[in-house]
Amino acid sequence: MDYKALAERLFPEGTPTIESIEQKYPPRSLEKGAEVTRLAPSPTGFIHLGNLFVAIANERIAHQSGGVLFLRIEDTDLKRKVEGAVEAVISALKYFDIHFDEGAEIGGDDTYAPWYQRQRAEIYRAYAKKLVEEGRAYPCFCTEEELTALREEQTSKKETTGYYGRYARCRNLSEEEVFEKLAAGTPYVLRLRSMGDPEVKHKFHDEIKGDITVQENDQDIVILKSDGIPTYHFAHAIDDHLMRTTLVIRGEEWLASLPIHIELFSALGFPLPHYGHNCSLMKQDGETRRKLSKRKDPELSLEFYRKEGYYPRAVKVYMLTLLNSAFEEWYMKNPEAPLESFPFKVSKMSKSGTLFDLDKLNDISKNELARLSEHEMFAFLKDWAEEFGTEAQKGYFADEEKMLRVLALCMGVGGKKRRKDFTTASQAMEFIRFFFERPVSREPYRCEKADRAGILSDFLKSYSPEDDSAAWFSKVKEIAGRHGFAAEMKDYKAAPEAYKGSVADVAEVLRIAATGKANTPDLWTILQILGEEETRARIEGECK
Ligand code: GLU
Repeated sequence: MDYKALAERLFPEGTPTIESIEQKYPPRSLEKGAEVTRLAPSPTGFIHLGNLFVAIANERIAHQSGGVLFLRIEDTDLKRKVEGAVEAVISALKYFDIHFDEGAEIGGDDTYAPWYQRQRAEIYRAYAKKLVEEGRAYPCFCTEEELTALREEQTSKKETTGYYGRYARCRNLSEEEVFEKLAAGTPYVLRLRSMGDPEVKHKFHDEIKGDITVQENDQDIVILKSDGIPTYHFAHAIDDHLMRTTLVIRGEEWLASLPIHIELFSALGFPLPHYGHNCSLMKQDGETRRKLSKRKDPELSLEFYRKEGYYPRAVKVYMLTLLNSAFEEWYMKNPEAPLESFPFKVSKMSKSGTLFDLDKLNDISKNELARLSEHEMFAFLKDWAEEFGTEAQKGYFADEEKMLRVLALCMGVGGKKRRKDFTTASQAMEFIRFFFERPVSREPYRCEKADRAGILSDFLKSYSPEDDSAAWFSKVKEIAGRHGFAAEMKDYKAAPEAYKGSVADVAEVLRIAATGKANTPDLWTILQILGEEETRARIEGECK
């Protein structure tokens, strides 16, 4: 076979020379040890926790080593392309403080641009041509139907499926047959002519999984589809080489394709970057553990965290906890340190499925939010409400001073111990709603109706917003005494049968009447914030 002639026939348009491409994308001049990492999503519009997981690892490694993190968009599959998906990736990651140095819609040093694979078609074609010239790639004219029949045959014989070895029919077409088919305009894809033998196994060092065994590839995989567009395998190999990626951290779903990638890099004459395959995120589902699923688990989507209003740092802390076994202890010792100062190590990443637990994240969120000042909380909630809140919620921020008092109270600012009532922005906004809107429903009163009405009207008679907390509480105690409730807890404890209840029950009645809830932060302060008129209006409504 005259491979040179075949290459000319397949790529008549003339492609740039390999030398010119290599020159255009020279090795990066970075300090020794600096890692070049990337995120290479397909623009499907769905950005998930797994992406964030990988992004955090890639970001840490790049920036900790003085290297580069870039964003490449793998848009070779047009069917999956969604408008605005690239901006969505960037903004979703920015929320978690992941910044790219270069890439699609980022700008930065454009030596290695373009970052959209569709704009790099000429480059892939140049390398494809080179492989044809060297006899390492060939056109395959098999139709979909033929490939389906082949797969069925292999399945029924319980053999490995795919286009390989003796099944790779077009691999051995004669020169005449090939040129005839081309002349007839038969559609074709371009396939790698694999030289591997799956019986041969090699040791491979995965940066995350450690030493693993990888068998050689023997699949003649498609490198260019019939429309001339490359497959992921082919495009990523060329891009990672030319963009001078040193470390590829990607999801473990790609581990199965590693033999293909090893062979492709070698056929193309490229040094192999380091690879680390990150374990999948699992979820405990009853007795079993399973992968997080797009269909069943809303928490897989990064949108979920923004809509719920998770505090970005909390999600990041949890992700780092899952990503690096040493993180939790480090964070306990360095709670104030910037997360970037944690010495992140790829080798400390978990080797097998990591359990993702929303309850654990919620605990971390509570702790993180409890560290904010009321001003920081104000800014965080306001941003959230502007994007996701109801009109009423947006209105809560109109009176800044009131909101700051509410937040300081609910967060226990200045108290002996911080309160941990807030988990997310959406939950916090719901929690503080009673300060801004009258309760439409109330938690049930435990107290008899007649007693309740008596307590509330009595309260209104003596209530004065001028009273300080102590004076206010002595009045509550007096009310308790007047209505058959123990004014002192110790009296009640000593003889519970002598009373209808205690002062705590009286306070609960007031609390539910004023706020709708049986549990709230300090009631006196709440009434101060509500103001006399509002307090009276709410309680009056419950006196009947
Ligand atoms: N485009 C691939 C994906 O969407 C990228 C995998 C990689 O990081 O190499 O998962």
